[in-house]
Amino acid sequence: MAIQIYCDRKLEDGKPCKTSNALNAKKCSRCGAEFSRERKYRVCVSVKGLRVNRIVQNLTIAREVESTIKGDLVRGEYDVKHHKVDRYPDAERCLGAIPAMGQGA
Ligand SMILES: [Zn+2]
Repeated sequence: MAIQIYCDRKLEDGKPCKTSNALNAKKCSRCGAEFSRERKYRVCVSVKGLRVNRIVQNLTIAREVESTIKGDLVRGEYDVKHHKVDRYPDAERCLGAIPAMGQGA
């Protein structure tokens, strides 16, 4: 189980960087981009050989998603094949209600 900062900055060749960085990182270890308040988070949950990766908008959502996915996987309820959505309805509702984190970082 892990939550990491996800770098989606476009590189010179037009492809996103997609590098995961430690939560306390100030900039991307690969491309050197500084993480702004618009940073994204990658949630990686691995249970019983199943692995689920999600990209979310903030750390609060990341933690919720992490525990939700983990619970679903443990109960065998998570449909990996059909679960392509990028966010939970609850997470979407939270967007905007949560003060931006990392401001001034
Ligand atoms: Zn990067």
